[in-house]
Amino acid sequence: MSRVKSLLIRVEIDEAKKAHNCQANATHRIERGDKRLKVRNGRSWDHYCISCAAVIIGRDIATLQALQPRLQTPYVSPIET
Ligand SMILES: [Zn+2]
Repeated sequence: MSRVKSLLIRVEIDEAKKAHNCQANATHRIERGDKRLKVRNGRSWDHYCISCAAVIIGRDIATLQALQPRLQTPYVSPIET
């Protein structure tokens, strides 16, 4: 294992073993066998449907891409998230 720490908390993509609601939006139903995003939350996991997962991943990619060039600039102002 690398000793360089990751910014990402533990995430996985798996298939729902039974039907349940998406944890970002209770009107999103995840059916048994659907792909879902698993995000570690303390000792348990949060589960999100594919459409919420796409939003979450897209937003985090954008945040990281905005952060990266700031390593090269001499002055950095606080980032707005
Ligand atoms: Zn959802």
